[in-house]
Amino acid sequence: MSTIQNFINGQYSAPIHGQYLDNYAPASGTVYGQLPDSGPEDVDAAVAAAEAAFPAWAAMPPEQRHDILHAVSEGIMANLEALAEAESMDSGKTLRTARTVDIPRAALNFKFFATALLHFAAESHHQPQSLSYTLRQPLGVVGCISPWNLPLYLFTWKVAPALAAGNCVVGKPSEVTPLTAHLLADIMNKAGVPPGVFNMVHGTGPRAGEALVRHPKVKAISFTGSTRAGAHIAGVAAPMFKKLSLELGGKNPNLIFADCDYDKMLETTVRSSFNNQGQICLCGSRIYVERPLYEKFKTDFVARVSALKVGAPTSPASDLGAVVSKMHFDKVLSYIDLAIEEGGTILCGGAPVMVPGHENGWYIAPTVIEGLGQNTRCIQEEIFGPVVTLQPFDTDEEALALANDVPYGLSATVWTNNLRRTHFLTNGLQTGIVWVNTWMLRDLRTPFGGVKNSGVGREGGWDALRFFTETKNVTYGL
Ligand code: NAD
Repeated sequence: MSTIQNFINGQYSAPIHGQYLDNYAPASGTVYGQLPDSGPEDVDAAVAAAEAAFPAWAAMPPEQRHDILHAVSEGIMANLEALAEAESMDSGKTLRTARTVDIPRAALNFKFFATALLHFAAESHHQPQSLSYTLRQPLGVVGCISPWNLPLYLFTWKVAPALAAGNCVVGKPSEVTPLTAHLLADIMNKAGVPPGVFNMVHGTGPRAGEALVRHPKVKAISFTGSTRAGAHIAGVAAPMFKKLSLELGGKNPNLIFADCDYDKMLETTVRSSFNNQGQICLCGSRIYVERPLYEKFKTDFVARVSALKVGAPTSPASDLGAVVSKMHFDKVLSYIDLAIEEGGTILCGGAPVMVPGHENGWYIAPTVIEGLGQNTRCIQEEIFGPVVTLQPFDTDEEALALANDVPYGLSATVWTNNLRRTHFLTNGLQTGIVWVNTWMLRDLRTPFGGVKNSGVGREGGWDALRFFTETKNVTYGL
């Protein structure tokens, strides 16, 4: 049994009231460890440590801060295998995904922002009678709250820019997948991150997370998670005038036109549907296909999806591992039942998978559903599992209307070689991100985030460094 601890002022420490939660391995459905069930007192201690460390960290020359954060990146890569194994065990994702996507990207997050901080600059404005310049100063203590689907990847996507900008951090990783964040703290220490600069409090959202959001000394909250929790956090933090970045749920459309590069589209659409068991906020779960291509696509797609192998996350043969928790397993299956009630037809999947040797694990077959109306709950609500829907469309205008006709607006994917149509769609899509003839190809300098119920604010590149700094204008009379 592993016991995870909080990390405060450079040291691992037990939660003040000594309470712990069980930590489950989704592959086997069994408890393999414990994590702190922290409360407000733990958050107070972490914030106090961060506050004490802030002046020296903020004043540190950028080159020195760069060197430390770069060393964190190298420390993550030096521990690639151990971190990948931990991530896979904790979340149920395949070891291959953790090894090739999650952990390298966590290292890259630190490398990217370690470099970015050296180039971060602010504006100046000149007039004959005045010279104004903008200072961008770190905020102080900031809170970083992350979800379970890409645990270390998304946690470091917040922590790295927060530290690069000169803030001290109190992190709250998902209670469902706390293990790699726990291991990161040791890497931070070895890389020379001074005590108190990075702190971490484990526990549930309503207890530990909420205490962090409510803490008066915490100046900003960077949150990634569900729309429901994001709305609640906004309600708590907005009257306290905290800076807020909210990266929330999605129900992303994948618009496929008959003139697309078919083979590339098909291969990518299998990935964009079921990568990480469909538990990526960018997965294209609503697939809309131009009518002349619909039947061919359906046949080929269902054949490819049916051939995907669901199995133990550690097996190199597995394309899909387990979904993250029993609660999520039940939720995804309940949506499949609902799809049938709503008039949908299951083209493949639609049921749990029994993996030999892992009979109590939470495995679901990749599921393709057709025949659902646009207003059904399965089309309108985020399922966040290995479930996609197929719908035909006839015109560009109809495709756009269907794509936009949900409460979410994170990303969209468009498959076409028609330039005029591409511009029409990219202009009209109500999302923060559009992929054209590709999916999840990331350039960390680009703004990342959504509109509508998918959140407010942008992460990535300068946007992240601007979020984690306060602007102050200074004007000189000449
Ligand atoms: P969740 O909202 O349940 O939890 C996310 C984090 O918030 C966890 O650390 C949780 O403990 C914490 N939390 C929950 N309630 C809180 C509260 N009242 N106060 C403070 N903290 C609280 O989400 P989840 O189930 O962990 O993650 C899945 C969701 O995340 C999906 O909706 C998915 O779309 C979304 N997501 C969005 C993005 C994006 O970039 N937009 C990326 C990944 C995941």
